[in-house]
Amino acid sequence: MNFDTDIRKFYGVGEKRAAVFEKLGIRTAEDLLYHFPRLYQDRRPRALCDINDGETAACVMTVATAPHTTLIRRGMSLTKFRAFDGAHSCNITFFNQNYVREVFSVGTSFRFFGKFKKTGRAYSLTSPSFEPLVPGREDALPDRYAVYRLSEGITQNILRRAIADATKGVFAPASDGASLDPIPSDIRHKNGLCPLRQGLWSIHYPTSDSELSAARRRFVFEELFVFSTAVALSKRRRIKKAALPMQRVDMTPFFEALPFEFTEAQRRAFFEIYDDMTRGDHPMNRLLSGDVGSGKTAPAAAAVYVALKNGYSAAIMAPTEILAAQHYGDLAPLFERLGFKCELLVGSTAAAKKRKIKAALCDGTLRFVIGTHALLCDDVVMDRPGLVITDEQHRFGVMQRSVLTEKSESCNTLSMSATPIPRTMALSMFGEVDLSVIDTLPPGRQKVSTFALDESYRSRLLGFIKKQVAEGRQVYIVCPAVEDADSEEDVGLVQDETLPFAYEEKTPKKAAVNYAEQLSREELSGISVEYLHGKMKSREKEAVMRRFLSGETSVLVSTTVIEVGVNVPNATLMIVENAEFFGLSQLHQLRGRVGRGKYKSYCILMSESKTDSARARLLAMCRMSNGFEIAEEDLKLRGPGDFFRSHSSDVMRQHGGLDFKMADVSEDAELCRAAFEASSELLARDPELLSPSHAALRRRVEKMGVMS
Ligand code: ADP
Ligand code: MG
Repeated sequence: MNFDTDIRKFYGVGEKRAAVFEKLGIRTAEDLLYHFPRLYQDRRPRALCDINDGETAACVMTVATAPHTTLIRRGMSLTKFRAFDGAHSCNITFFNQNYVREVFSVGTSFRFFGKFKKTGRAYSLTSPSFEPLVPGREDALPDRYAVYRLSEGITQNILRRAIADATKGVFAPASDGASLDPIPSDIRHKNGLCPLRQGLWSIHYPTSDSELSAARRRFVFEELFVFSTAVALSKRRRIKKAALPMQRVDMTPFFEALPFEFTEAQRRAFFEIYDDMTRGDHPMNRLLSGDVGSGKTAPAAAAVYVALKNGYSAAIMAPTEILAAQHYGDLAPLFERLGFKCELLVGSTAAAKKRKIKAALCDGTLRFVIGTHALLCDDVVMDRPGLVITDEQHRFGVMQRSVLTEKSESCNTLSMSATPIPRTMALSMFGEVDLSVIDTLPPGRQKVSTFALDESYRSRLLGFIKKQVAEGRQVYIVCPAVEDADSEEDVGLVQDETLPFAYEEKTPKKAAVNYAEQLSREELSGISVEYLHGKMKSREKEAVMRRFLSGETSVLVSTTVIEVGVNVPNATLMIVENAEFFGLSQLHQLRGRVGRGKYKSYCILMSESKTDSARARLLAMCRMSNGFEIAEEDLKLRGPGDFFRSHSSDVMRQHGGLDFKMADVSEDAELCRAAFEASSELLARDPELLSPSHAALRRRVEKMGVMS
């Protein structure tokens, strides 16, 4: 086995399971090993008397009474027994798990892990995890358990097993672990980083906090080091290429067709882009950054106009079908008026139509296409590609080389991102990345009034929803889960813990489907309520979104799928349920869905959480409206235990932009600098990464799609 071993070669992984792994971005042994835990369960045993009501903890107890099963109603059984920890006793209950009767014989000891209830002086535990204690080897159970991000069809245990197999297989005594390390050993030593093998081991099976910190440090460095090497190489390659010969064009028709005037910031951004495209030295690779709603689309559209006028083709890639359709809805009529046809190419486009569009792009009869990343990267070949724009893209700067741009090495690229870029990152990187920033909002934008409320306001809130709808406005309600009983695999889930080992929390989460059904049946009967979530088929999603856009639906209950970029100016009320589950930047994105039209807009953050960190986050949202400020606050509020950026990693992943798995470019400023320095020194010595000791690095950089 090696890094490239296919996931299907793993024990218990067939085609079907491989497809689920694929959803998690796991195709090979390497992907498995780099699927880092989302958090760790702390299973160090504690005494019952030290455990508080509602706390999730581990406790070693001995079974004291024989388990007794009762049928409580049709198809539902309860198995109960008592266990002692030496000083106190605890009632343990399992539902529908009759087999546990055989497991828990009186006198045997187990380590139980679960959420404890304490009523008065009585402890109880329902459906806990349990591990038998082997007499004489009580310390054989690990203290910490890694908890991984999952996808439907894969459990923690399946993933743990696969990761264990990969760890053993890849680093078998015979295999040469060192040659897999992308960090050359001299750089590793100089920066005091642990070897790859040790790092991977510690990440998945840590035995102490310090070991985990050392491993994290290593992977933060690795990530930044590989990234900066890739960025630098991609830039070197790009500036050696010739630019496409584009001329300045008369922009008057474009500006006249646009329904508004550019803001000063948009004008500045556009002219930077325009300059790149027509300067004639080398192809453009620019990042256009601006807060939610700052109006990034319009300058991008102007750039499309420049490319089309010069006889080149242009494409806009969006991360979701909804966004692509929205861009299409905005831009197709505009370009139609300017005499250019535009088509939409997404997964749900009919096969015949897809073929037609691809053929037209290939022979140049169609010059402008909007679609999803996946589709446009796939197998589309454009005639004379002149500009490829990616909206909300992950990992700007390092271009994923797509067939789109392959045809012309010199194709200009523009990435748009709403992720605010921390200053530290800017300093280290802007030698390599060309950046335009839109730092003001279009005129007439009102501040969205934001309130953090608890359940006692529920009925008033329902009244407010009805009032908004009666006035003809529309409402979003965002829930953290898709359906009741969804737990592990949720959308943009945030742990409300800042301890070194965050516990898995099982706070009941409002679920979009169930809540929408309840609202339309009860509290909001008579009002059109629909739901939307990421597990729906894209055709269904489109239809729901279309009905909301057209105003047919008044209330949209949704998961965070609506988070990125959706624009419905008539929507004036954003309600976020269980707001404590969301990170600040994510809340900011969600809030950005309202206040897009001329109506006064509101954002209501519903939360029952009383923890300090949750309160602080929600109050910060009420106080602040600027995305950059919020991003900085987010960093300040994040606890030291947030090793894997569980607050924001999913958030960032959804927003696109600086999508680092491990690194936090603000918090890890020092490492960031060291990694960037190391990469530029290394490239000065070995510009093409040809030395055998740089083979692993070269492989990783190639994987990012930089080298041809
Ligand atoms: P984002 O930066 O989030 O992608 P968009 O490009 O979607 O923002 O623009 C947000 C909204 O602002 C759109 O409805 C757009 O039509 C409007 N808009 C953009 N620029 C201006 C402007 N200069 N004046 C007025 N409205 C504008
Ligand atoms: Mg946008």
